[in-house]
Amino acid sequence: MQQVVALESSVLVLNKFFMALHVISARRALALLCKDTAEVISVDEGRFSAYDFESWKDVSICKARLGLPEDDSAGWIRTVSFNMEVPKIIRLLFYDKLPRSNVKFNRRNIFARDENKCQYCGHRFPTSELSLDHIVPKAYDGKTTWTNIVCACTECNKKKGGRTPGQAGMKLTRKPFKPKHSPILSLKLRSDKYRSWKQFLDEAYWSVPLK
Ligand SMILES: [Zn+2]
Repeated sequence: MQQVVALESSVLVLNKFFMALHVISARRALALLCKDTAEVISVDEGRFSAYDFESWKDVSICKARLGLPEDDSAGWIRTVSFNMEVPKIIRLLFYDKLPRSNVKFNRRNIFARDENKCQYCGHRFPTSELSLDHIVPKAYDGKTTWTNIVCACTECNKKKGGRTPGQAGMKLTRKPFKPKHSPILSLKLRSDKYRSWKQFLDEAYWSVPLK
């Protein structure tokens, strides 16, 4: 179980110029490391070091010899022959495209913007129990945009039916907005675990050319 958690944990991906691109699972990150198309970036007290797959493995083995921190067991992958620390940041060695300056309009980002909370009752639900609701229904010419789509739980969705919130006597907990930065990254940044991402994100936001 712990192993699965470790493989699904989040890894920040940087381009060749250390600019944040997106977030992937540790499983995918390890696949890229094995192919030598990426390296691990490890941040320690504001300074960072780079490791290829083999040297990261060696560092992990040394660290593991000193004893794995018990509170961070999900941050380790255990194989038959060695333990490896799950990287938190990787850098794509040959990828030189710039980060997108626009946040992609997709389900994943909408769920992250709304923090998996139903925007009518305000309760948090697992993704499988939420659906996307057109505030102004399509039948009334409601558009599929950041400002007209919100997360809604099954119950609120049913209650609202094909009506506007006004018609259904329901209120939104907040006004939906178009996020400036990736809402997935914003959510992760609140957790202490991903503190090391921050300096790369700041860098990315400053370096993206304005259009
Ligand atoms: Zn609800």
